[in-house]
Amino acid sequence: MKTPLVEMDGDEMTRVIWKMIKDILITPYVDLKTEYYDLGLENRDATNDQVTLDSANATKKYGVAVKCATITPNAARVKEYNLKEMWKSPNGTIRAILDGTVFRAPILVKGISPYISNWKKPITIARHAYGDVYRNVELSVPAGSKAELLVTRPDGTEERALIHDFKTPGIIQGQHNLDKSIESFAKSCFNYALDTKQDVWFSTKDTISKKYDHRFKDIFQEIFDKDYKEAFEKAGITYFYTLIDDAVARVVRSEGGFIWACKNYDGDVMSDMVATAFGSLAMMTSVLVSPDGVYEYEAAHGTVQRHYYKHLKGEKTSTNSMATLFAWTGALKKRAELDALPELMRFAQMLEEASLQTIEDGVMTGDLASLSTLPNKQSVDTETFLREIGKRLALKL
Ligand code: NAP
Ligand code: MG
Repeated sequence: MKTPLVEMDGDEMTRVIWKMIKDILITPYVDLKTEYYDLGLENRDATNDQVTLDSANATKKYGVAVKCATITPNAARVKEYNLKEMWKSPNGTIRAILDGTVFRAPILVKGISPYISNWKKPITIARHAYGDVYRNVELSVPAGSKAELLVTRPDGTEERALIHDFKTPGIIQGQHNLDKSIESFAKSCFNYALDTKQDVWFSTKDTISKKYDHRFKDIFQEIFDKDYKEAFEKAGITYFYTLIDDAVARVVRSEGGFIWACKNYDGDVMSDMVATAFGSLAMMTSVLVSPDGVYEYEAAHGTVQRHYYKHLKGEKTSTNSMATLFAWTGALKKRAELDALPELMRFAQMLEEASLQTIEDGVMTGDLASLSTLPNKQSVDTETFLREIGKRLALKL
C-alpha cells in the first residue's frame, strides 16, 4: 500500500469482528497501512468526541476510510458507559463534514433468493441525507385559525402564501431543503454511477409538489446535462427521472442492477423495503460518497449488541461478518484503484470471492442458515466462519 486507509474502529460485537477480520484475513497477506482512529464509545467520551471529527478530517485528507459500526448513545448508553454527554451519532457527524450521500447495496449469494424473484442484480439505494421532514417544524392548529407561509427576504420585503383557513382543528408542517445540498446529492449519485457503471433512477413527486420536488428534478437535470451527459454516454449508462409511484412499480418489475436515488424520506422507507426483500440486514453494504469523491465504507447494520452480551458471557455467537468484511474490501479496492496497485485490487477481489464461495459451499452464520435454500447448509460460529473464508482465500492465493 502507498497511502494509508483511514481506519475507524467501533463498538461491541462489530469491534470484535473488526479485529478478527484483520488478524485472520488481511494482515497475513497485506502490508496494511492505516491511520487508526478509535471511535469506540469509551474513546469518544475520553476525547470529548474530538476523535470523530479528526477521523472525518483525515478521510477528507486521504480520500478513503473504512468504518466499524458504532453506538449512537441514548439515555441507557449514557448510564451503561457513564458518559460525560449524550454524544451525537458518529455517522451524522461524519456525514455533515463530508457532505456525503449514503449508498446501500445488498450482497447477493446463491441459496438466498430475494423475495422478488426477478431481482437478479443488486439495487443500490442512494438516500439524500439532509432536510425535508427530518428538519421539519410542526404545529397543531385550533379551529378558526389561519395558517400562512411567510418568507422575509434580506431586503425586508415579505412573501406570503395561505396554507389553510382552519374552520376545524388541524395540523401544519414546514419543510426546507437547500439547492447546495441537492446539488451535492446529485453529484454524488452521478459520480457513484460512473464509478460502478450503473444507471441512475431518480424519483420525486413533482406533479404534486410543483416547486419543492420540482426543484430536485431540475437540479438533477441541470447538473447531469452540464457535467455528466458525455461521461454517461461513454460509460454506456443512463440517467432516468420518473415519478416516485412509477419508480416503485418499475423497481419491483426490474431485474435490479441500478442506483435508485431517493429523497430523504423515500430513501429511509425504500431502503428498509429493499434490504428486507433481498434477504438480510447483515448482507447490506453501505458507502458514504462525498461530492468531491471521498469514500467511507461500512456495514449497514449496527453493533449487534445482543450478540455482544452473549460474547461477554463467554458464549459462542454466530454473527455475520460479511457486510463488515465487504466494507474492508471496498475500501482496499478503492485505495488500489486510486494508487494503481493491481495486486491489492486482486487480493480484495479474491477475498470477496472466497467469502461468497464459503456461503455457497453451505458454510454460513445462523442468520443466513435460517434463510438459505441450500441442502447442505451448516451454521457455524463467528470465528469459524472467518477461518473457513481464510481456508478458501489461502487456496486461491
Ligand atoms: P443491529 O446492531 O443492527 O442489530 C439488530 C439485530 O439484527 C441483531 O440483534 C441481530 O438479530 C440482527 N443483526 C444485525 N447485524 C447482524 C449480523 N452482522 N449478524 C447477525 N445478525 C445481525 O441494531 P441494534 O441492535 O438496533 O443497534 C445496536 C447498536 O448499534 C445501537 O447502539 C445503535 O446505536 C448502533 N447502530 C450503529 C449503526 C452504525 O454505526 N452504522 C447503525 C445502526 C445501529 P438477532 O439478535 O435476532 O440475532
Ligand atoms: Mg429507517
